[in-house]
Amino acid sequence: MSRVAPRLVSVWVTGDALEGFTIEAPTGHIKVFLPLPGQDAPLLPEFLPEGQVVADDERPVVRTYTPRRFDPRTRALEVQFLLHGAGPASEWAERAQAGDKLAVAGPGGRFSMDPAAEHWWIAGDESAIPAVGTLLEALPGSASAQVHLEVADVGDEIEFSSPAKTEITWHHRRAADAWGAELDEAARGAAIANGTRVWVACEAAAMRGIRKHFLAGRRLPASSLVTRGYWRLGEVNHPDHDYGDDDLSR
Ligand SMILES: Cc1cc2nc3c(=O)[nH]c(=O)nc-3n(C[C@H](O)[C@H](O)[C@H](O)COP(=O)(O)OP(=O)(O)OC[C@H]3O[C@@H](n4cnc5c(N)ncnc54)[C@H](O)[C@@H]3O)c2cc1C
Repeated sequence: MSRVAPRLVSVWVTGDALEGFTIEAPTGHIKVFLPLPGQDAPLLPEFLPEGQVVADDERPVVRTYTPRRFDPRTRALEVQFLLHGAGPASEWAERAQAGDKLAVAGPGGRFSMDPAAEHWWIAGDESAIPAVGTLLEALPGSASAQVHLEVADVGDEIEFSSPAKTEITWHHRRAADAWGAELDEAARGAAIANGTRVWVACEAAAMRGIRKHFLAGRRLPASSLVTRGYWRLGEVNHPDHDYGDDDLSR
């Protein structure tokens, strides 16, 4: 375990089971299975004809994370955990030590990058920093990207690398609970050229506001947007497939 930033912990997962693991597209996700307190390793459900077999009180904690990078030579997978406070995955990462056991499943996700897209408008909060890193590294040199990241303070800012022409703007949260307000304001002020691809991932309600602005306010085609709720305030284990395409008023 090492720190990418004071609140962003990098964990390298290795094991023979990662033979053949591949990251097919940027911004994909994996499921991370973590042991319960007192367990050495997560108890993984067995799928038998009679259903899933693991007692309810022994089920591992399962959360969604980004496969940040994978080295097939050493079968090492990097996962970056934001230390956001109370939450079993965040707390596990804060304590993680070499030799600790976890399980991963995946990767999954439905994102496929259009290499012909010339302009990108990308926004995310701390939980999306790993995914933004995968996206920027995958952009072609012909692309340009405006990137807006909302974090608590300057300590959360990290370096990115990309073949594309990128302009990164860091926003510091205006109040501790103003999740996504800076990203929302950045979206409202954005100059969006025709054909721009928009990618946004942050708190789910904030994402819906930004999505609504681009669709209803700017009349951008829905096909040009990927908007993702990566977590929801007050909710444990927010689903991994919240694209905000259900109800614009939420
Ligand atoms: C596709 C996808 C990829 C993701 N990739 C990453 C990644 O690479 N790294 C990463 O750190 N996260 C990532 N996330 C977000 C991560 O899954 C959630 O933050 C998750 O809730 C963390 O689990 P937990 O056990 O720490 O907290 P939970 O038990 O799920 O939640 C406990 C409490 O913490 C709050 N909370 C959860 N997340 C945050 C947050 N980010 N900031 C503030 N409060 C929060 C919840 O609202 C809840 O009140 C991703 C999410 C998705 C959908």
